[in-house]
Amino acid sequence: MSARLAFIDLKAQYARQKAKIDARIHAVLDHGQYIMGPEVAELEEKLGHYTGVDYCISVSSGTEALLIALMALGIGPGDEVITSPFTFVATAEVIALVGAIPVFVDVEPDTCNIDVNLVEAAITPKTRAIMPVSLYGQPADMAELNALAARYGNIAIIEDAAQSFGATYQERRSCGLSSVGCTSFFPSKPLGCYGDGGAIFTTDPDLAKAIREIRVHGQERRYYHTRIGVGGRMDTIQAAVVLAKLEEFDWEVERRLDIGQRYLDLLSGINTVQLPVIRADRTCVWAQFTLQVDDRDAVLAKLKAQNIPTAVHYPVPLHNQPAYRDLCRISGSLARTEYVANRVFSLPMHPFLAPDAQDQIVAALKA
Ligand SMILES: *Cc1c(COP(=O)(O)O)cnc(C)c1O
Repeated sequence: MSARLAFIDLKAQYARQKAKIDARIHAVLDHGQYIMGPEVAELEEKLGHYTGVDYCISVSSGTEALLIALMALGIGPGDEVITSPFTFVATAEVIALVGAIPVFVDVEPDTCNIDVNLVEAAITPKTRAIMPVSLYGQPADMAELNALAARYGNIAIIEDAAQSFGATYQERRSCGLSSVGCTSFFPSKPLGCYGDGGAIFTTDPDLAKAIREIRVHGQERRYYHTRIGVGGRMDTIQAAVVLAKLEEFDWEVERRLDIGQRYLDLLSGINTVQLPVIRADRTCVWAQFTLQVDDRDAVLAKLKAQNIPTAVHYPVPLHNQPAYRDLCRISGSLARTEYVANRVFSLPMHPFLAPDAQDQIVAALKA
């Protein structure tokens, strides 16, 4: 009999990969290069290869990845960055941190990703970047955004791919779909480490150089600082953990796709539950498996009574958050964001979710 259902089961993952992970961590303890050890460069090379992107720069978190990307692009006070209000706070936080204004555009009600058709109306002469979020593990409509940016010239497209590492869009991998891609290795993300970590991807050599320098206090060489930077390196031990997990990652992504599809099959035909929608030209790595219902509180209470863990990603959209209400700009109506924020909830989802556990979750939901 399995233990209590986990929302995300990192223990099962460790049990399967223990030998590789332990060996990788011990190699770091033996060589002792805890900062910028050889595993960091090895990881950057392998992630660049995986995503098909020339330059990968590892950093200390997904939030830091987004922040450093904005800094490297020279975005600051007086600038505007268009993004989704329906995301984890870090997306807008970094825009505010560099002194720019987050401009919120409404989402598509089925994918919960930014509605590309509404983006152009939000563009002003101050727009320097668009930051789509590939929410729940499904890439946003990157081709449309790239085309829009190309028409306007100097607008960068920064994919917040914190939830979508491993997903594809028109056969290409998330993080490699636009001028800059940023991801997170927070433990519960599709590819996670055992602490904080992240990475930035770009094909632009000048931007890559700026990102590398900003990551280490803006230094061009030791103790010679040409830019304002941050202390944003990823630890060698965290890089070692990701390297070990990368060996099993293709298998895990396959499991995620299968388990997500099985949820969709098992839950189809319940007319009070709106299922997540995946566009035909992309895959979703299901960082979250997120449904929509009218009476969320009642549904969550019933699932809790049956020991099914759930979560809400995200209950309060960013334009309604006290810290952002007054500093953001809203473009058009955010009615769909308000609507989905009141209806979404996520079910347990990870590569080790067994069929019988999934059946138990679905049975509880149907009841
Ligand atoms: C997790 C997450 C981040 C931040 O990543 P951290 O590594 O936790 O800093 C940013 N954006 C989104 C959409 C996320 O889900």
